[in-house]
Amino acid sequence: MESGVVLNIQRYSLQDGPGIRTTVFLKGCPLDCWWCHNPESRSHEQEIIVIENRCIRCGRCREVCPAHLAGPCTRCGACVEACPTDARQMAGRTMTTPQVLTEIRKDRIFYEESGGGVSLSGGEPIMQHDFARNVLHACRDEGIHTAIDTSGYAPQEQLLAAAELADLVLYDLKLMDDARHVRYTGVSNATILENLLALSRRHRTIWIRVPLIPAVNDDPTELASIARFAADVPGVRRLCLLPYHELGVHKSRRLGRPYRMTGTRAPDPEQLEQAARVLQTAGLEVMIGR
Ligand code: SF4
Ligand code: SF4
Repeated sequence: MESGVVLNIQRYSLQDGPGIRTTVFLKGCPLDCWWCHNPESRSHEQEIIVIENRCIRCGRCREVCPAHLAGPCTRCGACVEACPTDARQMAGRTMTTPQVLTEIRKDRIFYEESGGGVSLSGGEPIMQHDFARNVLHACRDEGIHTAIDTSGYAPQEQLLAAAELADLVLYDLKLMDDARHVRYTGVSNATILENLLALSRRHRTIWIRVPLIPAVNDDPTELASIARFAADVPGVRRLCLLPYHELGVHKSRRLGRPYRMTGTRAPDPEQLEQAARVLQTAGLEVMIGR
């Protein structure tokens, strides 16, 4: 497929791999994590976002909407066009591979100077595996370093085919306790763990990313269990600890969706250091962030 649904292209990112990166966020994710900080990436389709504090109650959106905002939204975009304050926005746009590459090339000098490159994230980028592979291929043809950031919850052959075109795989491990994994993400971790083992037989550069979520996976037993599993996987080079943050609260509100972790606070530096120390016990390099 020559085109895909892109949520956002974030330039000058210091996350999602080494150096300065351009992160291409693709829409669509099969997981339903309680702490999701990118809820607008869950649906594969475009969605309308409403930023309430920008609304001046002029009523233009209602006037132009074929359903007067009351019926099912067809994502025609008329209200977005009509809104004078950008209070209504369309999350996601269809882009071709050449269009994405045009954006990526703008930052080429930063990749060369910082050892950076391009990261595909989401959502789950493997949900658009053909498009992801096209973008990775095009980057590889231009000598640009590539990474994919995956939940690992994907058909194995699709995941391996995309990973083959990436220099680095950023692989999320959230919980080893499967019952809690089902509760907090909506799916079992069995496929994720199996896919990681299969990936490790083909790919030599994997960073495991562990989101640190208070009261979900921040107890030492759970963290030690994640670290032990990761340390036994060949090809895993480091563990990245990603602290929970509260961005998802506002974003969920803008989409009109409930947020299930209201009141949860981001871990403080001491809690992060403590968690990092637990992860280090398995012998892997641990870093906070990335
Ligand atoms: S057009 Fe924009 S500013 Fe006007 S009522 Fe609709 S959302 Fe609010
Ligand atoms: S995108 Fe179209 S159908 Fe949906 S709310 Fe806006 S005007 Fe109405």
